[in-house]
Amino acid sequence: MHLQVRADNTSNPLLQPWSTPYGLPPFGAVKPAHFVPAFDQALLQHGAEMDAIAYQSKPPDFGNTITAFDDSGRLLDRITLLFHNLTASETSKELQAVQLEMAPKLAAHDNAVHMHEGLFARIDALHEQRSTLGLDDEQLRLLERIHLDFVRAGARLQGQKRSRFGAIVGELATLCTQFGQNLLAEESTYTLELHGEAELAGLPDFVLAAAKAAAQQRGLPTGSHAITLSPSLAEPFLTYSSRRDLRETVWRARVGRGAHAGPHDNRPVAARIMALRQEQAALLGYASYADYELHDRMAGTTEAVMDLLQRAWVPAKAAAEVDRQALAAMATRLGQPTPIAAWDWRYLAQKVRAERFDLDDSALKPYFSLEAMVRAMFDCAQRLFGLRFVEQQGIALHHPDARLWEVRDRSEALVGLFIGDNFARSSKRSGAWMSVFRKQSGQAGGTLPIVINNNNFAKAETTLLSFDDVRTLFHEFGHGLHGLLSQVRFERLGGTQVLRDFVELPSQLFENWAMEPQVLQRHARHYQTGQAMPAQLLDKLQQARRFDQAWATVQYTAPALIDMALHALPNGTAVDIAAFEAEQCATLGVPSDIGLRHGLTHFQHLFSGSSYAAGYYVYMWAEVLEADGFEAFTEAGDPFDAQTAQRLLRTIYSSGNRQNPADAYRAFRGRDPQVQAMLRKRGLLPTEQP
Ligand SMILES: [Zn+2]
Repeated sequence: MHLQVRADNTSNPLLQPWSTPYGLPPFGAVKPAHFVPAFDQALLQHGAEMDAIAYQSKPPDFGNTITAFDDSGRLLDRITLLFHNLTASETSKELQAVQLEMAPKLAAHDNAVHMHEGLFARIDALHEQRSTLGLDDEQLRLLERIHLDFVRAGARLQGQKRSRFGAIVGELATLCTQFGQNLLAEESTYTLELHGEAELAGLPDFVLAAAKAAAQQRGLPTGSHAITLSPSLAEPFLTYSSRRDLRETVWRARVGRGAHAGPHDNRPVAARIMALRQEQAALLGYASYADYELHDRMAGTTEAVMDLLQRAWVPAKAAAEVDRQALAAMATRLGQPTPIAAWDWRYLAQKVRAERFDLDDSALKPYFSLEAMVRAMFDCAQRLFGLRFVEQQGIALHHPDARLWEVRDRSEALVGLFIGDNFARSSKRSGAWMSVFRKQSGQAGGTLPIVINNNNFAKAETTLLSFDDVRTLFHEFGHGLHGLLSQVRFERLGGTQVLRDFVELPSQLFENWAMEPQVLQRHARHYQTGQAMPAQLLDKLQQARRFDQAWATVQYTAPALIDMALHALPNGTAVDIAAFEAEQCATLGVPSDIGLRHGLTHFQHLFSGSSYAAGYYVYMWAEVLEADGFEAFTEAGDPFDAQTAQRLLRTIYSSGNRQNPADAYRAFRGRDPQVQAMLRKRGLLPTEQP
């Protein structure tokens, strides 16, 4: 047995040095079967590193304990990051099995590290003396951060509480993995095949093309059309299909995800996750799980979050009522029934928008080819931060659709690698996200980051994006830049490892440049003729931006409020997930013709992991910072103002978690953020309601 493991490991590419270009993972050589033995080896090695720090004879100092801890676990990190990226972007039955096997083991290891008494004793001793150690700001920040990580992970717990905490962490890891896999199983098997012209009624060419591609992916005969639950297909279908019955079918399928009795039912999974989270919060001395999470956020308290959400929720509901009347009038003219239903809203809003602004997404899309928009985002990064993206061919990545770029700064120095993986497929989870294969660090000569952006655009001969898709592309690229531009000494403080309600600032801020007229004039060119977008169309796009913002705000704010209410339940409150959602919708008065952007049984933010639990609000929190922050460029009179961009780079994009986020923001803006810019942007200030 031992011999066999060893024989396996010498040929295991995960455990060998990666002599690939840029030290990329050796994608071609790695097989699912390599992961379990490699993880086992890396876990042992990391455990030995912890012991070496903890049991050395020298008394603790910053270098032999804090820096040493920050530098540890590189082998494990490398394997873990690759594994998480593969299971998210290109998974398989084999990888899913490894995922289920490893999730509790990895969680147990993480728990063992943070419960390592000898290690924590050294960190705690240094933390006690932190003001007398002569540390600079970044060193002090690292010490405080690591200490807090340990305390939050239960390092101070004793006896039975200690072992119970570890058991909870393990069970949560398994349940969160299960939640995501259940959803993927439902999403990847759902297909609505469309038969004949009648069922294709109203669909513009780009939806037809995407439906054809989806049918092909699902193995249906050539020429047939299918709708899947991927938002980039289902949402346009809900917007354009004039078949009310089919819209209802698709809408119900989306809303019902994770809520079917059987092997993929997420209701009991989410309920159990909630029970464990409450127990976890109780063990750590918090009154609720929300209190525990908010303790390590910029917002600080549940009240601060609820207050912000309410400031948007109340005017948004009022504004939605005005829009509803316009939609109902349109329904009557089209001979459709009123009151309208949730599967009518997008469709009717599109009709009203087309009439009011003479603007139609399908008229815009030819100007937003994916290719051109990728060029546009690179161009913005160059004008703001001096970055140049140089595509590299012929290097194997995790999937043939993924592309690789070198990222170079003004002095031509390589600062990182960027991978773009933009197309939907059934082996990829839904949504859009940024991740890394390698983190930036300034130690030992420096390590360059390898950053990946994932999207789920429908692949076509020429992929044409909606304006929402363009914003998503820029959003993830904003996260990508946060990872790529990171310039910190210590890995734990790098890139996007900032507080959860600060992490969406660089991404949401970057969306602003997608909306800049001068960016669109330069890059939004017709994919067939190369013509720039006509000024008139550009004007309309700008004018229409605020249209239906009330709907978007209600759709987002309601689940954010429900998330907080759910996680703010006092410890020990049993939850029936479906009933809780229904009660909350009734209490809040969520309009049934708008509904929730995410229902609890498919709310991956909350249940596929814990980092966005009691944290869906972070998008609006960051939007306050982003809207207020972008006005710095407006005030400077130039969206690419060099001084403002330089300050933004220094205080936000390159600084990771080197300082407290409120201080970082103040250093950029010269003052605290104000909420008005966000409300104005959404058309929700009292004087500006439509
Ligand atoms: Zn984001």
